[in-house]
This record gives sequence, structure tokens and C-alpha cells, in this order.
Amino acid sequence: KQLTGNELRKMFLDFFASKDHLIQPSSSLIPENDPTLLLIGAGMAPFKPFFTGKMKPPHPRISTSQKCVRTGDIENVGRTARHHTFFEMLGNFSFGDYFKKEAISWAWEFLTEYLELPKDKLWITIHTSDDEAFDIWHNLIKIPAERIIRMEENFWEIGPGPCGPCSEIHIDLGEERGCGKPDCMVGCDCDRYLEIWNLVFTQFDRDEAGNYTPLAKKNIDTGAGLERIASVLQNKRSNFETDLLYPIIEYTAKLARVTYGQSDKIDVSLKVIADHGRSMTVMIGDGVLPSNEGRGYVLRRILRRAVRHGRLLGIEKPFLTEIVDIAANILAEAYPDINDKKVYIKKVIQLEEERFHATLAQGIELLNKHVQELAQAGKKVFDGAMAFKLYDTFGFPWELTEEILNEHTMSLDKQGFDQAMAEQRERARAARQDSEERVVIPDLSGLVTESLHANPDAESAKVVLILK
Ligand code: ATP
Ligand code: MG
Ligand code: MG
Ligand code: MG
Repeated sequence: KQLTGNELRKMFLDFFASKDHLIQPSSSLIPENDPTLLLIGAGMAPFKPFFTGKMKPPHPRISTSQKCVRTGDIENVGRTARHHTFFEMLGNFSFGDYFKKEAISWAWEFLTEYLELPKDKLWITIHTSDDEAFDIWHNLIKIPAERIIRMEENFWEIGPGPCGPCSEIHIDLGEERGCGKPDCMVGCDCDRYLEIWNLVFTQFDRDEAGNYTPLAKKNIDTGAGLERIASVLQNKRSNFETDLLYPIIEYTAKLARVTYGQSDKIDVSLKVIADHGRSMTVMIGDGVLPSNEGRGYVLRRILRRAVRHGRLLGIEKPFLTEIVDIAANILAEAYPDINDKKVYIKKVIQLEEERFHATLAQGIELLNKHVQELAQAGKKVFDGAMAFKLYDTFGFPWELTEEILNEHTMSLDKQGFDQAMAEQRERARAARQDSEERVVIPDLSGLVTESLHANPDAESAKVVLILK
């Protein structure tokens, strides 16, 4: 079935509404009352207290399309067809209400009857010990046993909290999409067997120490990637070619005067910009501001990485605010608040982007020169002190330095970097004690100054000040 991303999202929610689910809007990316999480990375995350029984849900069945950010997937962006930092997770949840039979039957009904996906291309994985799930898939849904694979890793958890065995639905996209290795099968990390939906049978609560306590009531938590299913329905080779992301790629390609689909290197940069452009839009819309710590650092890293990939494409001027316009346009149907906040989002991005541009070229020059010197001396490890200088003076997140080094098959002395950072913190603390109540006024020229290290949040504070 041919559907737009917006139609697919709506169809999913309508489907579960028809199964007596309460449709709730997405929660903010910033978790509420959950210090174990930096950013929401799954549809179930905002519902943890409902699963554990700490709070009573407004309805025993809920369905959402949840904004998610997974920083852990940042290096995968553009290298696989299916990973984003920001994506939307479609989910249906049962809090002590229905369990495996309904969850499996409805997922199957939605995929094969509503979306009309070909039944014989769908593969199922279950937890090694889960005979109950096998029985439902095999005897009720009539999936041949050879397409139900038992796997030890089918146990889902995200930090401490509710978790349990899971069953995942994959679609075989054909041999030509695979890695070609003889042992390539479901679960292979290549793009042939695309994982589209994870059904988690939430039965345990894991504590910080790693103990698993059975929950009083059994629950269902499912997560399906909107962009992935859209790519299948729209018959595209990757999420990036769906209507949820492609307009950004088109715009950037035009701006950089490059063509999508001609070189892997160019495509990776175009994909990174499209992905990161969406992430920064939603993150700032939800109240994250660039800083040197926590989620602010995630945002800063994502934004600076996008700028660098812009430069790899030959874009030397700030361009990210236009990307926000396109991303917001696409996302506004589902998350209308993004439109209301667009002016604010763009202002934050403009400031951070300009500030980074001011020093980026110099930093890259310095880095390249040092790489060359090391190469001539036959060295393969980039010293931590120099990486710290790049961070400190030129605003390079260390991950960015590391990534550039990887392209030169060099590695980074991370320990040395951490040590230089610790020394700097110590100096800053001493300086602060010197001048007790000194008011810190961040340097507006765009250079990272001593005062910012004394107070990393000063930068965010500055943004807020300027916006006021
Ligand atoms: P993968 O194995 O492909 O990395 P996952 O097993 O980490 O996916 P889950 O944690 O099971 O993913 O999340 C549920 C669903 O959310 C996945 O089946 C997939 O459709 C979607 N999803 C997960 N991670 C991403 C991502 N980084 N970008 C886009 N969609 C994602
Ligand atoms: Mg993953
Ligand atoms: Mg997986
Ligand atoms: Mg999974």
C-alpha cells in the first residue's frame, strides 16, 4: 500500500483506537522525573510508572507516536539505511490488560491487512525460551516454523525499569539488499532483513543493581519505526528517501550543487544533515539548549556534526535554519507545536552555528596540519592535549575529532583528552575561588573563554538572554 508518512502514522493510531486504545500525544524528548534517561529513546519510556504500577494510567490501553532520540545510533546514520538519531516510534501499550495473543494478532493484522505487506516476506524472532509466543505465531497466525527464529538476545530493556522477552517482526527486502555473507539471516546487521516492529512482553522490573523482579501484572509495550515502515511502503532503499526526510536531502543537494545517489561519501553527508536537522529541530523545540553537558552536549554535538558535513559538501556558510524550516514543515502535522516554536528554534540554531563557523575552519586547518606531522613521524595516535585544544579553543566535540581521525585511520588518545579536561576544570575552579562573587559574562565574540569553563551553562544562559 502506498502511504505518506503522515498517513501511515494516522492509520496506525486509528487502528489502535479501533481496538479501544486511548490515543495520547507524544511526550517531550526531555524525560519527566526520570534521572536514568538523558532523552526519550522509546515509546514506552514516558510510561514506566504505569508499567511498574507506581501510577495509574488514564486507560489500560494507550497508543502513541513518540518522538525518540538515540544518540547511540549517531555513527550509524547514513551508514545503514535504517538508523536515525531522531525518529518516531509508533507504539501500543497494555498496562496489565491484554497480553501476547492480542499484541501479536493485532500487529499481524495491521501489517498484512491494513498495510498489505506480503506475508511470506515477514520473519519473526522470539526469545529462546518463549514457547508461548512460538505457539501463537505458529498455530494461531500460521507462520511456518522455519520463519520463526529463537534468539537469546530477544530480551528488551532500556536502562533500569520495565523489561521482558520480546518478539520482533522483520521484512526480507531481498538478496540484493543484503551483505551477501553466507551466514546472512534475520538479525544480521545489514539492511536485508529490516526490523520493523518490536513487541515486548513486559513482565519484569530491573533495578539499578541489575535484579529482575516479576511485575504484579503483565504488560505489552510495542515499538515500530515510522520511517522504516514508510520506506517499505514507499518502496525506497532507505528511510532517507521517504517523504519524511527526502525534502531535506533535496534542498541540501541543491544548495551544495551535488547529486544524491552518485557517491557514497556525498550521500552520507546528505543523510547526516537530514537526520541531524530533524533532531536539532525537535530537541530545541522540546527545550534543549546547546551546552557542554548532558543533553545540551548531545544537541551541540549533533549540530556541529551537521555543520561539518555541510562543509564536506562545500557549504561554507550557515545553512541550518533553512533545514529547520523544511523539517518543521514535515513534522508539524503530527507535532503542531513545532510550528509555533520555529522562530525560537531557528534563533538558537543560528547563534550556535555562527559561533561554530567562526572557528571551525581554523580548527580543521590545525587538525590537518597536526595529522600530517604525525603521519610523517609514523605515528597513529593523536595526542589528547591537542584534541583538548581543538575542543577548548575551536569547539570541536571530541567525538568529532575522533571521527575525522578515523577517516585518516588514526586514533585519539582519549585518556589524554580527559586528563587535559580535568586539569582545565581544576584551574577554572581555582580561578572561581579567587574571585568569589565575580559575575561571569560570556565572551560574545564566539571564542570559548575561561569563564565558560567556570560555568558551562553560561552559553545556554547567553542564548536565553539574547532571545529575551
Ligand atoms: P536495530 O536492531 O535495527 O538497531 P533496535 O532493535 O535497536 O533496532 P528497538 O529498540 O527494538 O530497535 O526499537 C523498536 C523499533 O524502533 C525498531 O524495531 C525500529 O523499527 C525502530 N528503531 C529503533 N532504532 C531506530 C533508529 N535509530 N532509527 C529509526 N528507527 C529505529
Ligand atoms: Mg538498535
Ligand atoms: Mg534489533
Ligand atoms: Mg529491536
